Amino acid sequence: MHILLTNDDGILAPGLAAMYRELARLGQVSVAAPDSAQSASAHAITINAPLTASWVHVQNEFHGWSIGGRPADCVKLAVSQLVQPRPDLVVSGINDGANVSINVLYSGTVAAAAEGALLGLPAVAVSLEHGDELDFGGAARIARGIIELLLHQHLPAGKLINMNIPSLTEGRPKGIRVVPQAVQIMDDYYVEQAGPFGTKQFWLRGSFKDFGSDANTDLRALRDGFVTLTPLHVDLTERSRLADLADVDWPDVTQFR
Ligand code: MN
Repeated sequence: MHILLTNDDGILAPGLAAMYRELARLGQVSVAAPDSAQSASAHAITINAPLTASWVHVQNEFHGWSIGGRPADCVKLAVSQLVQPRPDLVVSGINDGANVSINVLYSGTVAAAAEGALLGLPAVAVSLEHGDELDFGGAARIARGIIELLLHQHLPAGKLINMNIPSLTEGRPKGIRVVPQAVQIMDDYYVEQAGPFGTKQFWLRGSFKDFGSDANTDLRALRDGFVTLTPLHVDLTERSRLADLADVDWPDVTQFR
């Protein structure tokens, strides 16, 4: 088993090191991760500049590729160029903070795993909810156990799983829930302050206040203390609307002036 490990918090992030230690029990682990924090970079890639890759020693514990790019860049470059043999699995995380509901769209953690899936590999994104305690070691043990089970028969090549682990305060997690992604947005707002030279600065703040009426979502299950597993696909097509749009009597575009 050869596992490619990446993240969006940067190669020095404690969540990546914790995941490395657990994945090393399953096989060979190659690391390729951004050289700086890249949270909320979604599925961005670098196209107008070269990617700089450095072979670095992390915490006197493991080596990895530190890459001056986005999370998706790291997976794309590692699989196509840096890492041999071709990985059997891509794991992204453990992210510092949950990636549920609308945050799945902003997440660099999820995008890195999605890039692995696009390249035909099984892929898992792992995130740990913020809480009083950010116990990455405990979260990594849970993630590794679930990944072992998934690999056994429920994670084919090219498929993507989004895993979120509740903050590990006492009594949690309560179990594992397989749930769809919520579509609740956060109550985002900007804090304004004066910037230099007469400019204004705006800091984005916000949190989930409305957890939605549907109890069967990643957002609600995580809040209730469950580990959530959500199979994702990268096809954004809303198939139920295809027929309706196709039935429109579309004009001849060659006649447009
Ligand atoms: Mn992050």
